[in-house]
Amino acid sequence: MRIVVLAGGIGGARFLRGLKSAVPDADITVIGNTGDDIHLFGLKVCPDLDTVMYTLGGGIHEEQGWGRAGETFAVKEELAAYGVGPEWFGLGDRDFATHIVRTQMISAGYPLSAVTEALCDRWQPGVRLLPMTDDRVETHVLVDDPDGPPKGDAEGGGRKAIHFQEYWVRLRASLTAHAIVPVGAEQSKPAPGVLEAIAAADVILFPPSNPVVSIGTILAVPGIREAIADAGVPVVGLSPIVGGAPVRGMADKVLAAVGVEATADAVALHYGSGLLDGWLVDTVDTAAVPAVEEAGIRCRAVPLMMTDVDAAARMAAEALALAEEVRA
Ligand code: GDP
Ligand code: CA
Repeated sequence: MRIVVLAGGIGGARFLRGLKSAVPDADITVIGNTGDDIHLFGLKVCPDLDTVMYTLGGGIHEEQGWGRAGETFAVKEELAAYGVGPEWFGLGDRDFATHIVRTQMISAGYPLSAVTEALCDRWQPGVRLLPMTDDRVETHVLVDDPDGPPKGDAEGGGRKAIHFQEYWVRLRASLTAHAIVPVGAEQSKPAPGVLEAIAAADVILFPPSNPVVSIGTILAVPGIREAIADAGVPVVGLSPIVGGAPVRGMADKVLAAVGVEATADAVALHYGSGLLDGWLVDTVDTAAVPAVEEAGIRCRAVPLMMTDVDAAARMAAEALALAEEVRA
């Protein structure tokens, strides 16, 4: 069975670990979000690709859900001693090596997809990990700028766009997000292999990744959304929203920016029946099932908390079962 999964960081990676355990013989292609990528200290950092790679390759900091296990921070401390930041982004010594190798290869002319493949040679994630695009796409968040020109001013009405990582990590999404802008997405092209994998898939899954800044960004690369909608195979998603709140993180803040309520059914309707054939909500959201089904999306309520690999594997099995149900 050929499975294509669109993935962000933690939610995508933990789901993928369950999927691999549920169907060890499946041929899994992951289309990873690169809108979170950021250049720091002259290095290209790809947080979501690395979270998937480290999680599936056994190198992840398990409790934290991102970064390397057994990490030390000597380089960061030395940089800080020179007064060189930002200090708010946690880059450990082991992690630095990944970004150095990546940046070196990119400087030598390799596209990100080739670099990702080379990094995966070491980690052996057991899936084919593709960046959504080899082009530069950077998610920015439009927030109020207290020091900016007054509202109504042609300069932008007292708002400014900041890098997603600054909004998420430094500000912990404490400001209202007025808009989410995947800068560069419109001009980007799917990375080699992305459209081919979608066209060859038997089933396409949306893990419980962030619907706006993870899966939404992947879908913003021209051609990907259309390819999924036209693939003619079941597309099944799992809700990252449980009981009216994200299980982890601040997805509600970016959902609000696109006018979507932080509920399991609102997220399904946001993707829409043009894209989704099936949707899983948590058992605490059983009441949301009818609204999703009325929208033309087959919906089931099952436990959706990835407390361990087995729990994630059961979720993956439920998603595949729902895919077979809609296929029939
Ligand atoms: P990020 O890039 O690291 O933020 O990771 P993703 O976009 O892949 O996933 C983030 C989403 O995963 C958040 O919106 C969480 O609500 C969701 N999430 C994390 N753990 C769980 C879980 O155990 N169950 C469900 N249903 N969602 C989860
Ligand atoms: Ca991310």
